[in-house]
Amino acid sequence: MQSNNPKLKLSFKPFTLELKHIFTVASSSRSTTPVVLTEIEYDGLIGFGEASMPPYLGESQQSVMSFLSKVDMIGFSDPCCIEEIVQYVDSIAPGNNAAKASVDIALHDLVGKMKGQPWYSLWGYDPHKALVTSYTIGIDTPEIVKQKAEEASPYKILKVKVAQGNEKAMIEAVRSVTDKPLYVDVNQGWTDRNYALDMSYWMQEQNVLFIEQPLPQEYMDDIAWLSAQSPLPIMADEAIRRLSDLKNRYGMYNGVNIKLMKSTGMHEAHEMLEFAKSVGMKTMIGCMTETSCAISAAAHLSPNADFSDLDGALLIKNDIFEGMKVVDGKIVLNNKPGIGVKLLSF
Ligand code: MG
Repeated sequence: MQSNNPKLKLSFKPFTLELKHIFTVASSSRSTTPVVLTEIEYDGLIGFGEASMPPYLGESQQSVMSFLSKVDMIGFSDPCCIEEIVQYVDSIAPGNNAAKASVDIALHDLVGKMKGQPWYSLWGYDPHKALVTSYTIGIDTPEIVKQKAEEASPYKILKVKVAQGNEKAMIEAVRSVTDKPLYVDVNQGWTDRNYALDMSYWMQEQNVLFIEQPLPQEYMDDIAWLSAQSPLPIMADEAIRRLSDLKNRYGMYNGVNIKLMKSTGMHEAHEMLEFAKSVGMKTMIGCMTETSCAISAAAHLSPNADFSDLDGALLIKNDIFEGMKVVDGKIVLNNKPGIGVKLLSF
C-alpha cells in the first residue's frame, strides 16, 4: 500500500571495519576504519549508503553523525530530484565529503529501486565492460610483500604502495613472485621531480601502468612538469577530490582517481568521470576501505573508466553487505535495482 504523502527518512549508525592486514601507506598505518552506515526510507523502500573515514581525510564517526543530524529531508517530496537534494546537502556545511557521500549513495540506491533499474543502466553503461580490479599491497617487509603478492593470485593487476627509498625493494619483492601489471601509488611521498622522473623510467621497465600522486599536491609546477615528461601517466588522487578541483587542475595531471568518499558521492563522481573523459584524461574508479555497500555504488561507474581499484571490501573481515562481486579478479555487477546490495546483518 502506498501512503498518500510519503516522506524521506534518513537514519544512520556507526560501524567499525576490521582490516585483514595492518595497512601502511607513505603517511600512516592502521588496522581498523571507522564508517557510518545510512538508510533513506521512502514509501516502503530503503536505500543504503555509507561514509568511510580513513583518518588522514579529517572526518570521523562523530563529525559524520553530527553532519547527518543536520540533514532535514522534510522539504523534499520526490527522491528522484537527486540534483536538488545533493545540492541542498552540499550547502549545509563545507567539507564533510564522506558524510555527503553517505546521503548521496543511499538516495541513488533508493531512486534506482523506485525505477527498478541498476545505476549502470540509468547511466547507459554496459555492465560487461566492468573492469578487472587491482588488489592493493601496502608497504611492508619484502617477505610480507611477497606473501601478499602470492595471496593476491586471483587478481590480474596489483596496486603497490611505495614511499621514498623503498620503491625498488617493494617492486622487486612483488616481481620475485609475479610479472602481472602494477599500479604504483606514492601517496605524495616523493619530494623531488627529477627523482620522480627517474623512478618513472625505471618503473616503466617493470611493467608499471601508471604512478598515482607522486609529489605533494601543493607542488603544482613540478607535477605539471612531471606529467609532461613522464613515460608513465601521472594520476591525481589527493589533489583532486571534487569536480571543482578537477576543473581547476586537469591540465596538471594525465589522469584522475575518482572516489565516492572524495567526490561527495555518485552524482558528482559521475560528472567527474564524464568531464575527465571529455578532456582526454585517464580515469580510475577507486575507493577507501569500505563495505560492499559503497564499493558496489562505485562499481556502477567502472564500465566507463580506464582503470579500477575497488578492492576495499576484500581487505576487511566484517563486510555486512553483499553486492558487486570480484570473480577471477574481474568486477561482476548484478542486475538488482539501485546499487544492487543486500544487507546481511548488523
Ligand atoms: Mg591513492
